[in-house]
Amino acid sequence: MVDEVDAVVIGAGVVGLAVARALALAGREVIVLERAYTIGFETSSRNSEVIHGGLYYPAGSLKATACVEGRQRLYEYCRDHGVPHAALGKLIVATSEEEIPGVQKIEAAARANGVDNLEWLSVAEAQRMEPELNCVAALLSPSTGIIDSHALMLAYQGDAEDAGAFVVFRSPVLSGRVLNDGFELAVGGDEPTTIRCGMLVNASGLYAPSLARSIDGIPLDTIPPAYFCRGVYFTLAGRTPFRRLIYPVPVPGGLGVHITLDLAGQARFGPDVEWIGDVDYAVDPRRGDAFYAAVRRYWPGLRDGALQPGYAGIRPKISGPNDPAADFVVQGPATHGVPGLVNMYGIESPGLTASLPLADEAVRQLGA
Ligand SMILES: Cc1cc2nc3c(=O)[nH]c(=O)nc-3n(C[C@H](O)[C@H](O)[C@H](O)COP(=O)(O)OP(=O)(O)OC[C@H]3O[C@@H](n4cnc5c(N)ncnc54)[C@H](O)[C@@H]3O)c2cc1C
Repeated sequence: MVDEVDAVVIGAGVVGLAVARALALAGREVIVLERAYTIGFETSSRNSEVIHGGLYYPAGSLKATACVEGRQRLYEYCRDHGVPHAALGKLIVATSEEEIPGVQKIEAAARANGVDNLEWLSVAEAQRMEPELNCVAALLSPSTGIIDSHALMLAYQGDAEDAGAFVVFRSPVLSGRVLNDGFELAVGGDEPTTIRCGMLVNASGLYAPSLARSIDGIPLDTIPPAYFCRGVYFTLAGRTPFRRLIYPVPVPGGLGVHITLDLAGQARFGPDVEWIGDVDYAVDPRRGDAFYAAVRRYWPGLRDGALQPGYAGIRPKISGPNDPAADFVVQGPATHGVPGLVNMYGIESPGLTASLPLADEAVRQLGA
């Protein structure tokens, strides 16, 4: 038997669920196919859970515009839907005179992105806010915050289901083909089946390029390469003295080992940057050595033995270690020529923050 539906979204991470919600609210009949047994099984549960301000990304990029708009909409969405969050604010710190230009660069990028509420702090002002902080200068981003990402995904799923969508678990999409009027997908799992749909959104995160390659009829030259860049986190044993997020100057590939807090006040440090060949979430405790050195530059009071291995996330990159950082790619028919198809590639940070505008962009490109 072949099931038919208006639209299929592949992947029940934060982006796939946001897309399913937007399509269902636009009146489409939607099925989300997720190969895991639950929502948010991969990157959406393995990140810093920060609502980013939109400071870092090149002006006019989709990362910049979707982050700034997404942050504003996300705070509103969280308030309306009871999603736990807190606008704690964040300090970006220079720990030596040489790092000050790096922080100035962030300030300039932020202004170009329309973020005009950043504030330079003197050492005394920064230490009044965070007495254990070591810095020579700091930039305060008051609108950066934290969010319970699982609660956000549950809220998106709830909205989508209320509007008639179904999320089907243990349903890996194995392959597919482009038809004259839509798509046919081979779905595995306990009860393998074939599904036909008129619209298809590939929101499978780390696997988006390989999944696109397995769908016959998608031009191969429109599919980017996939690179995996792991970042591990260490958690702090005991209480943290910090009440805000503390970020160093970014490093190539990531934002630098920062301190973030969860809503219970538990501190974690990360993510570092390690380019790997395959998806592997193992945390090597030996990576902690480099964390002590990185964190002590801005928090000299970090005690020996205080860091415990936490978890790892993998950035779904589409540019390699020696390439310029790629933008988010929401790729519709105008690029690949296949009506009814959107591929979402390279949705690394700040994809959680940007999830609502990214979903709208997918729906716009589908003309749904
Ligand atoms: C280390 C790290 C830190 C980050 N920190 C932040 C942050 O603080 N703030 C922020 O805004 N963003 C952050 N991000 C980015 C954010 O986490 C991601 O942009 C977001 O989670 C991506 O969501 P997604 O739905 O695209 O992908 P995913 O969450 O990976 O979801 C993809 C889903 O597709 C499913 N899937 C894959 N293949 C198939 C298949 N063949 N069939 C069916 N299902 C399939 C997977 O099981 C998975 O559930 C961070 C990312 C990383 C890696």
